[in-house]
Amino acid sequence: MLNWFEVTMLGLLAGVIGTGAGGLLSIFVKKPTPRFTGTILAFAAGVMLAIIFVELIDESIASSGHWAAIGGLAFGMVVFYLLDHYLPHRHTVTEEETIFSGYLKKGTLLALGIGLHNLPEGLAIGTGFVGSQELGFSLAILIGVHNIPEGMAVAAPLKQGGFSFPKVLAITLLAGVPMGLGALVGALIGSISVFVLGLSLGFAAGAMLYIVCDELIPDAYESAGAHLSIFGIFAGTILGLLFIALL
Ligand SMILES: [Zn+2]
Repeated sequence: MLNWFEVTMLGLLAGVIGTGAGGLLSIFVKKPTPRFTGTILAFAAGVMLAIIFVELIDESIASSGHWAAIGGLAFGMVVFYLLDHYLPHRHTVTEEETIFSGYLKKGTLLALGIGLHNLPEGLAIGTGFVGSQELGFSLAILIGVHNIPEGMAVAAPLKQGGFSFPKVLAITLLAGVPMGLGALVGALIGSISVFVLGLSLGFAAGAMLYIVCDELIPDAYESAGAHLSIFGIFAGTILGLLFIALL
């Protein structure tokens, strides 16, 4: 088995390489339209849905049974509802906001939002590695791939707000860092016992499902409309399922 340090590093790499690649790719998108950004966010949501239902919940039931999976899922939902409610944060910044308002404050709120999003994904990777090496690697690769469109979605408004390329790239790289922390916490908590491992896999699934419903899908619909979003969600889910079958 990998030790907690290796798991943390793999979580960090999955986070940083994914969002950083998204930031890099954003140079090739001359003018990222809201339709484009919304569609790739929907795609990221679809990949998450495949991970949540096929990998995390399945593995949670396999380690600790249905009740642990359901309990963990509900607990993850409640914790993320409370964080969402009481911790001021933003999912994205608009062009006008980046230009006109206190940009440090907006930046902090955005960083908190990204942190909230990436922590449970790191948690999933960390607990996944405790479950088995195959599960951990498969989650790290899938979540890393899903981070590419997310990195592009973070980069798009910054780019339109006039940020220089190195700054955009630095911010997208930083956006992936909380995943390392999540992986560390997941590896430590998941190692307590097999039952706790099942609970924490369910918890990561609940937290990620909350984020899909609260952030990715609404943001996608707002930017790209229902039809493009639905295509994006299905494309992401199918790609996620294919990856899971192949990995
Ligand atoms: Zn994500």
